[in-house]
Amino acid sequence: MLYDSIESLRTDGLWFAAVWVTLANVAMFAFALAAGEVILRRFGDRRITPAPGPLTNKELGLAGLCVLLNALVAVAGLALWRESVISLRPYGDYSALTVLLDAFVLFLAMDFAMYVFHRVAHHPLVFSLAHSTHHVYESPRPLTLFVLNPLEVAGFGALWLLVLVAYSASIEGILIYLAINLVFGLVAHVGVEPAPEKWLRIPVLRYVSTSTFHAEHHMDRFHNYGFYLLLWDRLFHTLSPEYTADFARSTRISLTT
Ligand SMILES: [Zn+2]
Ligand SMILES: [Zn+2]
Repeated sequence: MLYDSIESLRTDGLWFAAVWVTLANVAMFAFALAAGEVILRRFGDRRITPAPGPLTNKELGLAGLCVLLNALVAVAGLALWRESVISLRPYGDYSALTVLLDAFVLFLAMDFAMYVFHRVAHHPLVFSLAHSTHHVYESPRPLTLFVLNPLEVAGFGALWLLVLVAYSASIEGILIYLAINLVFGLVAHVGVEPAPEKWLRIPVLRYVSTSTFHAEHHMDRFHNYGFYLLLWDRLFHTLSPEYTADFARSTRISLTT
């Protein structure tokens, strides 16, 4: 069933495929906003940043443009796949372990590539060209995940397509990675901390980013450039020295209110 649907994206007209991937991007956008609202209601007493001000038309416009551009990146990916520039593992000819390995490789490769891309985006010579748009919003809300300069959306998209050209993953691995990417992006921008207080004491998990981690980056542009893991920030000494204290503060609030 999954393989038939995927194969029809290769064999049917590109316009037909484009409509489907656009609908998928709109659905992911709607899901992220709805899930963000649920998290905000559940953990509203664990604010990391001050509550954001009223929503502006500029934010809505940039977010809408971002969803359309993401769909365009997906169409470009489809076109590259149809031309065999991007290749997938032969359908079903692999184990569940291979699928998990693919998702992990994409996760790690994208995390490192985005760390480098993000640090370059903060270089004084290029910051005002694109990334400054996202940094206008010091108090993020779920929509902020999509409030990006179009140049930046195109840059992230190109990075993703390059990774897919370099690594032939299974379709399931790609879908798992995309779901994980959406969850991390959403968690990064909710502005409240849903992770339990003991998170930073749990082996392995303490290296996985939290809402506090990216919220700190919105308030302090000189630290926390990673997205999924704290690994690269620890390795290159860019992790905020306030991280542990800020995390404790944002989780403790719920205990005192
Ligand atoms: Zn952000
Ligand atoms: Zn930044």
